[in-house]
Amino acid sequence: MSIHFRAIEHLDKAIELAESESLEHLRYAALELRLAIECLVYQFLPYYRDEVPDELFSEWRPQIILDALVDANPDLPHSHTLRMAPENAKGEPTAWYTMGKQTGLSPKHLRAAHHRLSNFLHATAEDTHVDEEKLRRSVEKVASILEPFRTDSVISNFAVRHSVECECGRRFSRRGRALEKSPLVRCPNKDCKRLWRYVSEEGQVSQWEMVSQEIVCQKCKETTYFSPTQVQPGARLRCSYCNAVSRLEPGVIVQLEPDAG
Ligand SMILES: [Zn+2]
Ligand SMILES: [Zn+2]
Repeated sequence: MSIHFRAIEHLDKAIELAESESLEHLRYAALELRLAIECLVYQFLPYYRDEVPDELFSEWRPQIILDALVDANPDLPHSHTLRMAPENAKGEPTAWYTMGKQTGLSPKHLRAAHHRLSNFLHATAEDTHVDEEKLRRSVEKVASILEPFRTDSVISNFAVRHSVECECGRRFSRRGRALEKSPLVRCPNKDCKRLWRYVSEEGQVSQWEMVSQEIVCQKCKETTYFSPTQVQPGARLRCSYCNAVSRLEPGVIVQLEPDAG
C-alpha cells in the first residue's frame, strides 16, 4: 500500500468518525487527520535522499521534515500538473496528455492544521472540558484542507540539479531553484556536515567550494580547516597534522580595554 493511499485512508476514516455525535469519535477523527498529514509529508522523503540531511529519516515531526523539503525544493508549496507529449520527426511535441497532478504542500497551512488538532489530543484536567464545537470545526476545517490531496496521482520530481562529492565521499545534490535562494548547502551525512558553497556551472560540471574555518592546533601550532557547521560548542576537532583532539567550549573572554584607566 502506498503511503499516499494510507494518507487518504486516514482522511476517509476521519470523515467517517466525524459523522458521529460522540466526542470520543471526534477526537479519534482528529488523530486520524494528524496521521494523514504525516503520511502526506513522509511520502516525499525517499525522493529527497540526496538533498536533505540524513537525520530527517529518523524524524517524525512533519513540520521539521516539510521545512527541510521546501528548503531543498522551493516549488513544493505550489501545485503542479505533469503533462507529456510524444515528439514528431522534427522533435516537436504533438498531442499533450495529462499524467497527473501534485497538490502544493504549504508549510504554513499544514503546520497550523497539525497544531490545531494536537490541542485536542491531550488528556484534560478534571475541572476542564473539551470544547466540542471547536473540535468539530477544527476537524471539518482540516479535512477540507486535505481533500485536494485525494486525487493526487504523481510526485513531480523533475528539476535542474547541481551535485558535488563531499570530502567524506558522499555525493549530494541541490536544485537550481534552491541555490538561487542560498548557495550554501550542508553535506547530508550526519557524521560530516561539511558546508559547501555552489559557485557556478562550467560546461556540464558544477563548481563548488568547501566553506571552511581555520583552527590552530594548540599542540603543534599547525592550521586545520573545518566547516563552520563542525565548529560548534562541544565539538571535538582532530588536528590533521598531529592527530590531537581539541574540544570546543563556549566561554566568556574578559579583556581590558586599551584606554581603561
Ligand atoms: Zn560530507
Ligand atoms: Zn596538531
